[in-house]
Amino acid sequence: MVPNMIDLRSDTVTRPSPAMRAAIAEAPVGDDVIDKDPTVERLQDLSAEILGKEAALYMPSGSMTNQIAVRLHCKPGDEFICESGCHIYNYEQAAFAQLSGVVARTVPGKGGIWKKDQLVGLVRPVNEHQVRTRMVTIENTHNRGAGRIQPYETVVDLCAWAHHNGLATHLDGARLFNAVAATGINAADWSQHFDTISICFSKGLGAPVGSVLAGPYEMIQEARRHRKLFGGGMRQAGMIAAGALYALLNNRERLREDHDNAQVLASAVRRCEGLRLQPDQVDTNMVIFTVNADLGNAQQFVDEMASHDVHMLAISPTAIRAVTHLDVSADQVQQAAKTFMSVAHRLG
Ligand SMILES: *Cc1c(COP(=O)(O)O)cnc(C)c1O
Repeated sequence: MVPNMIDLRSDTVTRPSPAMRAAIAEAPVGDDVIDKDPTVERLQDLSAEILGKEAALYMPSGSMTNQIAVRLHCKPGDEFICESGCHIYNYEQAAFAQLSGVVARTVPGKGGIWKKDQLVGLVRPVNEHQVRTRMVTIENTHNRGAGRIQPYETVVDLCAWAHHNGLATHLDGARLFNAVAATGINAADWSQHFDTISICFSKGLGAPVGSVLAGPYEMIQEARRHRKLFGGGMRQAGMIAAGALYALLNNRERLREDHDNAQVLASAVRRCEGLRLQPDQVDTNMVIFTVNADLGNAQQFVDEMASHDVHMLAISPTAIRAVTHLDVSADQVQQAAKTFMSVAHRLG
Protein backbone atom coordinates (compact mmCIF):
# COMPACT_ATOMS: atom_id res chain seq x y z
CA MET A 1 0.00 0.00 0.00
CA VAL A 2 1.21 3.50 -0.84
CA PRO A 3 1.94 4.99 2.62
CA ASN A 4 -0.62 7.78 2.70
CA MET A 5 -3.19 6.22 0.40
CA ILE A 6 -6.73 6.68 1.69
CA ASP A 7 -8.71 3.88 0.12
CA LEU A 8 -12.46 4.54 0.24
CA ARG A 9 -13.33 2.35 -2.75
CA SER A 10 -14.90 -0.39 -0.64
CA ASP A 11 -14.94 -1.93 2.83
CA THR A 12 -13.52 -5.07 1.20
CA VAL A 13 -10.03 -3.52 0.83
CA THR A 14 -9.03 -3.98 4.49
CA ARG A 15 -5.93 -6.00 5.31
CA PRO A 16 -5.56 -8.29 8.31
CA SER A 17 -4.14 -6.44 11.32
CA PRO A 18 -1.09 -7.83 13.19
CA ALA A 19 -3.40 -9.27 15.86
CA MET A 20 -5.59 -10.94 13.25
CA ARG A 21 -2.49 -12.33 11.53
CA ALA A 22 -1.30 -13.72 14.88
CA ALA A 23 -4.68 -15.44 15.37
CA ILE A 24 -4.37 -16.89 11.86
CA ALA A 25 -0.81 -18.13 12.50
CA GLU A 26 -1.88 -19.91 15.68
CA ALA A 27 -5.15 -21.43 14.44
CA PRO A 28 -5.56 -25.19 14.88
CA VAL A 29 -6.65 -26.77 11.59
CA GLY A 30 -7.99 -30.04 10.19
CA ASP A 31 -9.44 -31.29 6.91
CA ASP A 32 -12.85 -29.68 6.73
CA VAL A 33 -13.88 -31.80 3.74
CA ILE A 34 -12.97 -35.22 5.17
CA ASP A 35 -14.49 -34.30 8.51
CA LYS A 36 -13.80 -31.16 10.53
CA ASP A 37 -11.51 -28.21 10.95
CA PRO A 38 -11.68 -27.06 14.58
CA THR A 39 -11.32 -23.34 13.77
CA VAL A 40 -14.02 -23.53 11.11
CA GLU A 41 -16.22 -25.32 13.66
CA ARG A 42 -15.69 -22.53 16.20
CA LEU A 43 -16.50 -19.89 13.61
CA GLN A 44 -19.65 -21.69 12.52
CA ASP A 45 -20.83 -22.29 16.09
CA LEU A 46 -20.26 -18.70 17.14
CA SER A 47 -21.93 -17.37 13.98
CA ALA A 48 -24.98 -19.57 14.55
CA GLU A 49 -25.16 -18.45 18.17
CA ILE A 50 -24.92 -14.73 17.32
CA LEU A 51 -27.53 -15.12 14.58
CA GLY A 52 -29.82 -17.22 16.76
CA LYS A 53 -29.87 -20.15 14.32
CA GLU A 54 -29.26 -23.88 14.78
CA ALA A 55 -26.28 -24.09 12.42
CA ALA A 56 -23.98 -22.18 10.11
CA LEU A 57 -21.62 -23.10 7.28
CA TYR A 58 -18.45 -21.28 6.22
CA MET A 59 -17.99 -20.59 2.50
CA PRO A 60 -15.51 -18.67 0.33
CA SER A 61 -17.81 -15.78 -0.58
CA GLY A 62 -21.13 -14.07 -0.02
CA SER A 63 -22.10 -14.86 -3.59
CA MET A 64 -21.82 -18.53 -2.72
CA THR A 65 -23.79 -18.30 0.54
CA ASN A 66 -26.54 -16.36 -1.27
CA GLN A 67 -26.66 -18.71 -4.23
CA ILE A 68 -26.70 -21.80 -2.07
CA ALA A 69 -29.62 -20.25 -0.18
CA VAL A 70 -31.43 -19.87 -3.52
CA ARG A 71 -30.60 -23.48 -4.26
CA LEU A 72 -31.96 -24.67 -0.92
CA HIS A 73 -35.24 -22.81 -1.19
CA CYS A 74 -35.95 -23.10 -4.94
CA LYS A 75 -35.96 -25.82 -7.62
CA PRO A 76 -35.50 -25.34 -11.39
CA GLY A 77 -38.54 -23.49 -12.71
CA ASP A 78 -39.14 -21.67 -9.42
CA GLU A 79 -39.08 -17.93 -8.86
CA PHE A 80 -38.01 -15.69 -6.02
CA ILE A 81 -38.90 -12.08 -5.33
CA CYS A 82 -36.24 -9.49 -4.57
CA GLU A 83 -35.63 -5.74 -4.61
CA SER A 84 -34.43 -4.63 -8.04
CA GLY A 85 -31.14 -3.07 -6.89
CA CYS A 86 -30.02 -6.03 -4.81
CA HIS A 87 -26.68 -7.83 -4.99
CA ILE A 88 -28.19 -11.26 -5.69
CA TYR A 89 -29.90 -9.93 -8.80
CA ASN A 90 -27.27 -7.48 -10.08
CA TYR A 91 -23.83 -8.61 -8.99
CA GLU A 92 -23.75 -12.39 -9.01
CA GLN A 93 -23.97 -13.05 -12.77
CA ALA A 94 -27.54 -14.26 -12.30
CA ALA A 95 -26.06 -17.43 -10.84
CA PHE A 96 -29.58 -18.36 -9.70
CA ALA A 97 -30.36 -18.84 -13.41
CA GLN A 98 -27.00 -20.22 -14.49
CA LEU A 99 -26.54 -22.68 -11.64
CA SER A 100 -30.04 -23.40 -10.34
CA GLY A 101 -32.51 -22.77 -13.19
CA VAL A 102 -34.36 -20.22 -11.07
CA VAL A 103 -35.82 -16.86 -12.14
CA ALA A 104 -36.05 -13.63 -10.19
CA ARG A 105 -38.95 -11.21 -10.00
CA THR A 106 -37.80 -7.74 -9.04
CA VAL A 107 -39.64 -5.06 -7.12
CA PRO A 108 -38.27 -1.49 -7.26
CA GLY A 109 -37.32 0.01 -3.91
CA LYS A 110 -36.48 3.60 -2.99
CA GLY A 111 -32.76 3.62 -2.37
CA GLY A 112 -33.11 -0.13 -1.93
CA ILE A 113 -35.87 0.15 0.68
CA TRP A 114 -39.17 -1.56 -0.10
CA LYS A 115 -42.42 -2.44 1.59
CA LYS A 116 -44.85 -5.28 2.01
CA ASP A 117 -47.58 -3.55 -0.02
CA GLN A 118 -45.39 -3.96 -3.10
CA LEU A 119 -45.55 -7.73 -2.73
CA VAL A 120 -49.29 -8.07 -2.73
CA GLY A 121 -50.47 -10.01 -5.79
CA LEU A 122 -47.00 -11.23 -6.77
CA VAL A 123 -47.40 -14.85 -5.69
CA ARG A 124 -48.29 -16.73 -8.83
CA PRO A 125 -51.32 -18.97 -8.88
CA VAL A 126 -50.79 -22.72 -8.92
CA ASN A 127 -51.17 -23.35 -12.61
CA GLU A 128 -49.04 -25.33 -15.01
CA HIS A 129 -48.40 -22.31 -17.22
CA GLN A 130 -46.55 -20.48 -14.53
CA VAL A 131 -43.36 -20.70 -12.51
CA ARG A 132 -43.75 -21.30 -8.79
CA THR A 133 -43.10 -18.45 -6.39
CA ARG A 134 -40.93 -19.77 -3.55
CA MET A 135 -38.93 -17.15 -1.72
CA VAL A 136 -38.40 -13.50 -0.83
CA THR A 137 -34.88 -12.12 -0.31
CA ILE A 138 -34.01 -8.91 1.51
CA GLU A 139 -30.66 -7.12 1.56
CA ASN A 140 -29.71 -5.29 4.76
CA THR A 141 -27.87 -2.97 4.75
CA HIS A 142 -28.41 -2.22 1.10
CA ASN A 143 -25.22 -1.93 -0.95
CA ARG A 144 -26.48 -0.05 -3.99
CA GLY A 145 -28.76 1.95 -1.70
CA ALA A 146 -25.63 3.50 -0.11
CA GLY A 147 -25.69 1.36 3.00
CA ARG A 148 -29.29 2.21 3.86
CA ILE A 149 -30.95 0.17 6.60
CA GLN A 150 -34.17 -1.60 5.68
CA PRO A 151 -36.21 -0.48 8.72
CA TYR A 152 -36.94 -3.19 11.27
CA GLU A 153 -40.74 -2.88 11.10
CA THR A 154 -40.64 -3.28 7.31
CA VAL A 155 -38.50 -6.41 7.65
CA VAL A 156 -41.02 -7.84 10.10
CA ASP A 157 -43.87 -7.02 7.70
CA LEU A 158 -42.16 -8.32 4.55
CA CYS A 159 -41.18 -11.59 6.21
CA ALA A 160 -44.53 -12.13 7.91
CA TRP A 161 -46.25 -11.61 4.57
CA ALA A 162 -43.86 -14.03 2.85
CA HIS A 163 -44.33 -16.76 5.46
CA HIS A 164 -48.08 -16.23 5.49
CA ASN A 165 -48.02 -16.84 1.74
CA GLY A 166 -45.94 -19.98 2.05
CA LEU A 167 -42.69 -18.38 0.85
CA ALA A 168 -39.24 -18.88 2.35
CA THR A 169 -37.19 -15.84 3.38
CA HIS A 170 -33.47 -15.23 2.98
CA LEU A 171 -31.49 -12.29 4.31
CA ASP A 172 -28.46 -11.09 2.36
CA GLY A 173 -26.84 -9.69 5.47
CA ALA A 174 -23.40 -9.07 3.97
CA ARG A 175 -23.46 -5.91 6.13
CA LEU A 176 -25.98 -6.99 8.76
CA PHE A 177 -23.57 -5.97 11.54
CA ASN A 178 -23.59 -2.41 10.22
CA ALA A 179 -27.36 -2.42 10.70
CA VAL A 180 -26.87 -3.89 14.18
CA ALA A 181 -24.30 -1.25 15.14
CA ALA A 182 -26.44 1.58 13.80
CA THR A 183 -29.79 0.50 15.28
CA GLY A 184 -28.81 -1.34 18.47
CA ILE A 185 -31.18 -4.13 17.37
CA ASN A 186 -29.16 -7.32 17.78
CA ALA A 187 -28.37 -9.76 14.99
CA ALA A 188 -30.60 -12.54 16.33
CA ASP A 189 -33.56 -10.14 16.47
CA TRP A 190 -33.05 -9.23 12.83
CA SER A 191 -32.46 -12.79 11.74
CA GLN A 192 -35.36 -14.46 13.60
CA HIS A 193 -37.60 -13.33 10.72
CA PHE A 194 -35.61 -15.26 8.11
CA ASP A 195 -35.21 -18.93 7.30
CA THR A 196 -31.62 -18.40 6.18
CA ILE A 197 -29.09 -15.59 6.57
CA SER A 198 -25.82 -14.85 4.84
CA ILE A 199 -23.19 -12.64 6.49
CA CYS A 200 -19.79 -11.54 5.14
CA PHE A 201 -16.58 -11.35 7.14
CA SER A 202 -14.64 -9.61 4.37
CA LYS A 203 -16.64 -6.36 4.40
CA GLY A 204 -16.67 -4.02 7.40
CA LEU A 205 -15.61 -6.80 9.77
CA GLY A 206 -12.20 -6.70 8.08
CA ALA A 207 -11.34 -10.38 7.60
CA PRO A 208 -9.57 -11.54 4.44
CA VAL A 209 -12.00 -14.23 3.26
CA GLY A 210 -15.42 -15.71 3.65
CA SER A 211 -19.06 -15.70 4.59
CA VAL A 212 -21.40 -17.98 6.47
CA LEU A 213 -24.88 -19.19 5.71
CA ALA A 214 -26.95 -19.77 8.85
CA GLY A 215 -30.28 -21.54 9.25
CA PRO A 216 -32.00 -24.69 10.51
CA TYR A 217 -29.72 -27.69 11.15
CA GLU A 218 -31.13 -29.94 8.39
CA MET A 219 -31.00 -27.19 5.83
CA ILE A 220 -27.37 -26.38 6.63
CA GLN A 221 -26.48 -30.09 6.29
CA GLU A 222 -28.00 -29.93 2.82
CA ALA A 223 -26.09 -26.69 2.14
CA ARG A 224 -22.87 -28.61 2.83
CA ARG A 225 -23.61 -30.92 -0.10
CA HIS A 226 -24.29 -27.94 -2.36
CA ARG A 227 -21.13 -26.18 -1.21
CA LYS A 228 -19.11 -29.18 -2.40
CA LEU A 229 -21.05 -29.26 -5.66
CA PHE A 230 -20.34 -25.55 -6.27
CA GLY A 231 -16.62 -26.10 -5.64
CA GLY A 232 -16.54 -24.54 -2.20
CA GLY A 233 -15.29 -27.47 -0.11
CA MET A 234 -12.11 -26.23 1.57
CA ARG A 235 -9.54 -28.32 3.43
CA GLN A 236 -7.44 -26.56 6.13
CA ALA A 237 -9.87 -23.66 5.98
CA GLY A 238 -9.11 -22.78 9.60
CA MET A 239 -6.30 -20.64 8.15
CA ILE A 240 -8.87 -18.21 6.79
CA ALA A 241 -11.67 -18.96 9.23
CA ALA A 242 -9.34 -17.76 12.01
CA GLY A 243 -9.36 -14.27 10.47
CA ALA A 244 -13.15 -14.36 10.24
CA LEU A 245 -13.40 -15.57 13.85
CA TYR A 246 -11.11 -12.79 15.01
CA ALA A 247 -13.26 -10.29 13.10
CA LEU A 248 -16.47 -11.60 14.62
CA LEU A 249 -15.04 -11.42 18.14
CA ASN A 250 -13.33 -8.04 17.85
CA ASN A 251 -14.63 -5.89 15.02
CA ARG A 252 -18.39 -5.64 15.39
CA GLU A 253 -18.60 -2.86 17.97
CA ARG A 254 -16.14 -0.61 16.19
CA LEU A 255 -18.35 -0.39 13.07
CA ARG A 256 -19.85 2.68 14.78
CA GLU A 257 -16.56 4.50 14.14
CA ASP A 258 -16.98 3.82 10.42
CA HIS A 259 -20.49 5.25 10.60
CA ASP A 260 -19.23 8.39 12.35
CA ASN A 261 -16.54 8.73 9.70
CA ALA A 262 -19.12 8.38 6.92
CA GLN A 263 -21.03 11.29 8.47
CA VAL A 264 -17.88 13.41 8.21
CA LEU A 265 -17.62 12.60 4.50
CA ALA A 266 -21.34 13.21 4.03
CA SER A 267 -21.18 16.66 5.56
CA ALA A 268 -18.17 17.54 3.40
CA VAL A 269 -20.14 16.50 0.31
CA ARG A 270 -23.13 18.56 1.48
CA ARG A 271 -20.88 21.62 1.71
CA CYS A 272 -19.42 21.24 -1.80
CA GLU A 273 -21.09 23.08 -4.60
CA GLY A 274 -21.58 20.69 -7.50
CA LEU A 275 -21.72 17.51 -5.39
CA ARG A 276 -24.95 15.98 -4.12
CA LEU A 277 -25.55 13.07 -1.78
CA GLN A 278 -27.66 10.36 -3.35
CA PRO A 279 -29.62 9.72 -1.17
CA ASP A 280 -29.09 12.57 1.28
CA GLN A 281 -29.48 10.21 4.23
CA VAL A 282 -26.39 8.26 5.32
CA ASP A 283 -27.28 5.42 7.68
CA THR A 284 -24.04 3.45 7.94
CA ASN A 285 -20.62 3.37 6.25
CA MET A 286 -21.36 4.29 2.63
CA VAL A 287 -21.67 7.61 0.92
CA ILE A 288 -22.87 7.88 -2.67
CA PHE A 289 -22.95 11.25 -4.38
CA THR A 290 -23.38 12.67 -7.83
CA VAL A 291 -21.11 15.13 -9.58
CA ASN A 292 -22.63 18.05 -11.41
CA ALA A 293 -21.59 18.16 -15.10
CA ASP A 294 -19.83 21.53 -14.47
CA LEU A 295 -17.19 19.61 -12.54
CA GLY A 296 -16.74 16.97 -15.26
CA ASN A 297 -17.83 13.34 -15.05
CA ALA A 298 -17.55 10.99 -12.09
CA GLN A 299 -14.38 9.30 -13.37
CA GLN A 300 -12.61 12.64 -13.82
CA PHE A 301 -13.50 13.61 -10.26
CA VAL A 302 -12.29 10.23 -9.00
CA ASP A 303 -9.01 10.58 -10.93
CA GLU A 304 -8.43 14.04 -9.52
CA MET A 305 -9.09 12.79 -5.98
CA ALA A 306 -6.76 9.83 -6.61
CA SER A 307 -3.95 12.18 -7.58
CA HIS A 308 -4.30 13.48 -4.00
CA ASP A 309 -4.19 9.94 -2.57
CA VAL A 310 -7.92 9.63 -1.92
CA HIS A 311 -9.39 6.66 -3.78
CA MET A 312 -13.09 6.18 -4.50
CA LEU A 313 -15.17 4.34 -7.11
CA ALA A 314 -17.10 5.88 -10.00
CA ILE A 315 -20.21 3.68 -10.04
CA SER A 316 -21.88 5.41 -12.99
CA PRO A 317 -20.98 8.31 -15.34
CA THR A 318 -22.29 10.72 -12.69
CA ALA A 319 -22.13 8.88 -9.34
CA ILE A 320 -19.29 8.11 -6.95
CA ARG A 321 -19.15 5.82 -3.94
CA ALA A 322 -16.98 6.28 -0.85
CA VAL A 323 -16.96 3.65 1.89
CA THR A 324 -15.44 3.90 5.36
CA HIS A 325 -13.84 0.92 7.10
CA LEU A 326 -11.29 -0.10 9.72
CA ASP A 327 -8.28 0.79 7.56
CA VAL A 328 -9.19 4.49 7.33
CA SER A 329 -8.68 6.50 10.49
CA ALA A 330 -10.72 9.49 11.62
CA ASP A 331 -7.74 11.71 10.70
CA GLN A 332 -7.59 10.27 7.21
CA VAL A 333 -11.31 10.84 6.80
CA GLN A 334 -10.85 14.49 7.82
CA GLN A 335 -8.08 14.72 5.22
CA ALA A 336 -10.32 13.12 2.58
CA ALA A 337 -13.09 15.60 3.45
CA LYS A 338 -10.70 18.51 2.93
CA THR A 339 -9.56 17.03 -0.36
CA PHE A 340 -13.19 16.81 -1.51
CA MET A 341 -13.65 20.48 -0.90
CA SER A 342 -10.44 21.60 -2.57
CA VAL A 343 -10.97 19.36 -5.63
CA ALA A 344 -14.62 20.42 -6.03
CA HIS A 345 -13.55 24.04 -5.68
CA ARG A 346 -10.77 23.72 -8.24
CA LEU A 347 -12.89 21.87 -10.83
CA GLY A 348 -15.90 24.14 -10.29
C1 LIG B 1 -20.22 -8.07 -1.08
C2 LIG B 1 -21.62 -8.49 -1.05
C3 LIG B 1 -21.99 -9.82 -1.23
C4 LIG B 1 -21.01 -10.95 -1.47
O1 LIG B 1 -19.97 -10.66 -2.29
P1 LIG B 1 -18.73 -11.65 -2.50
O2 LIG B 1 -17.76 -10.76 -3.17
O3 LIG B 1 -19.21 -12.76 -3.33
O4 LIG B 1 -18.30 -12.10 -1.16
C5 LIG B 1 -23.32 -10.15 -1.15
N1 LIG B 1 -24.24 -9.21 -0.92
C6 LIG B 1 -23.93 -7.92 -0.74
C7 LIG B 1 -25.01 -6.92 -0.45
C8 LIG B 1 -22.60 -7.50 -0.82
O5 LIG B 1 -22.30 -6.22 -0.65
